[in-house]
Amino acid sequence: MTETTSTEAPKEASAPVVAQHAATLKALPFSDISDFEDASRGFLGTLENARITSAQGRVVWSLEPYGFLSDPEAPPTVDPSLWRQSRLNMNHGIFEVVPGVYQVRGLDIANMTLIEADTGVIVVDTLTSIESARAAMELYFKQRGRRPVAAVIFTHTHTDHWGGARGVLDDETLVSGKVPIIAPNLFMEHAVSENIIAGPAMLRRAPLARKGARGQVDCGLGKSMAAGSVALLRPTDLVMATGDKRTIDGLEFEFQMAPNSEAPAEMHFFIPRHKLVNLAENCTHNFHNLLPFRGADVRDALAWSKYLGEALQIWGGKAEAMCGQHHWPVWGADRIDTMIRQQRDLYKYAHDQTVRLMNHGLTAAEIAETIKLPASLEGAWHARGYYGHIRHNVKAIYQKYLGWYDANPVNLDPLPPVEAGKKYVEYMGGADAILARAARDFAKGEFRFAAQAVSHLVFAEADNQGARALLADIFEQLGYSAESATWRNAYLFGAQELRQGMPKAPPRPPMPRETLAALRTGQLWDVLGVRLNGPKAEGKHIVLNWSFTDTNETFILTLENCALTYIAGAQAAAADAGFTLARSTLDEVIAKQTSFPESVASGKIKFTGNAMRLAELMALMDEFPRMFEIVEPKRMAVS
Ligand SMILES: [Zn+2]
Repeated sequence: MTETTSTEAPKEASAPVVAQHAATLKALPFSDISDFEDASRGFLGTLENARITSAQGRVVWSLEPYGFLSDPEAPPTVDPSLWRQSRLNMNHGIFEVVPGVYQVRGLDIANMTLIEADTGVIVVDTLTSIESARAAMELYFKQRGRRPVAAVIFTHTHTDHWGGARGVLDDETLVSGKVPIIAPNLFMEHAVSENIIAGPAMLRRAPLARKGARGQVDCGLGKSMAAGSVALLRPTDLVMATGDKRTIDGLEFEFQMAPNSEAPAEMHFFIPRHKLVNLAENCTHNFHNLLPFRGADVRDALAWSKYLGEALQIWGGKAEAMCGQHHWPVWGADRIDTMIRQQRDLYKYAHDQTVRLMNHGLTAAEIAETIKLPASLEGAWHARGYYGHIRHNVKAIYQKYLGWYDANPVNLDPLPPVEAGKKYVEYMGGADAILARAARDFAKGEFRFAAQAVSHLVFAEADNQGARALLADIFEQLGYSAESATWRNAYLFGAQELRQGMPKAPPRPPMPRETLAALRTGQLWDVLGVRLNGPKAEGKHIVLNWSFTDTNETFILTLENCALTYIAGAQAAAADAGFTLARSTLDEVIAKQTSFPESVASGKIKFTGNAMRLAELMALMDEFPRMFEIVEPKRMAVS
């Protein structure tokens, strides 16, 4: 925590922001309420406030803190279009999509789809947490009667679609192996790897803004990830190719592969009996993200668009209902056709026009400033940028093709924020001159450059209370003016941190055993490699042999030149030490269920040579902080 905390509360929306919202109310088709009809259609029942608690009584999910969204009219502090989406995402409970197909929505950020087959029910996606998934299953059973789970389908690799699987399949069912778990090819390879190497940075970058009309109202796709326990289950049946079919408990499914779209492994399906298409997370009621703000591999907008075009080609006209794994369904062949077509073109337009402008020489910031969606997409509610946004998605497309460098050498080696901040303040005539000019721009509603200038001052003088307060006020107005939930949350989190310092977040729990078991041993060495403090390792040379008895793997792990590398399938003749153990024992050590010395003492780990060399290597590993400064200078030196 900084010493420069203040308890200053969020403020009102400024006049320019209020005027902008009034213009938005006139520009967009608010009288079209078909989304509200669709989002509540087929409602069967729910839990009060969608409240879910853990066995220990801890609330893992509740929509109660969002009660302020009951007002149909947006307050001045929220963009009216975002307010509309936030209200739509308040629908919660179990809904009939078509007879025999049900969705639990609003009990998590994602949906669970339940499809009745000849004797049992097929569960598509299992929400983020075990607690949410259990509650969703009970809600379904209450409405439709208890029946066995015939299969679990994971549409893609993001945690909000598989984290709760153990809430759907109990131990007995799991051990019996009778219930198939069906997923797209390469599911395990991608399910955890996307978040593993850079996990600590990603976790910190995800905003924790407080909820309220002057705070977080939504994230675009839903409210937020549920708390609670997460566990990964290994699929038993991988779908390999578009056109592959499965008959599950008498019900036929046709699959379409969509790798490297919204997730690295993702698939869509069609059920002829129910005339139902499910496009997972690739055709949602918002412009999705090509690069989430927390960080990820850049997604392929061109491939994404092509999958939607292909879905239209193979299932267009056949489907009478379309549901996805976020948001609400759409009914009627014509409306389904229109939505897929518009979503296909949304991603294609963003891709093609970005590349066109790029090839004319525009940089990412210039493209973001230039590009506008065509009128036919601007007015389609599902194309609005509540989660992704055209103005940052184009930057992701630029990054995918050209990377961080805009080819102007002024941006090749600029001073870092603190050093640059000090020079800016000096060149601009000192702190007071900057604050006076920024205050004038703030009053006029010219927030963007004012934010840049005052941020330089905050980095030059982190304890300048006037600068922190003004920058917080500017971020706050930028947040209030944003239609995109992700922009709003980023700005409001920035304002909150400038006023109150970094929030105290609970420490990161150790990785669950099931998740660890999903990682290849090589990935564990890669994670260890990024923890190595290079400068501390100067001059060290350590060679360790590893032999895993349960996976029959061998490795040589080598530290030299301050880099940790490994060779698989080999043992070094002149290693400092060699360890023989089960990979599951290593997982227990990493999950902090036991320690390395304890496992040696109990005989679970055997070694030869000088085992202290492993201790020496582990002493070179950094522990990553849960929080670090973002909108202000780092208080701890990192080298
Ligand atoms: Zn999702």
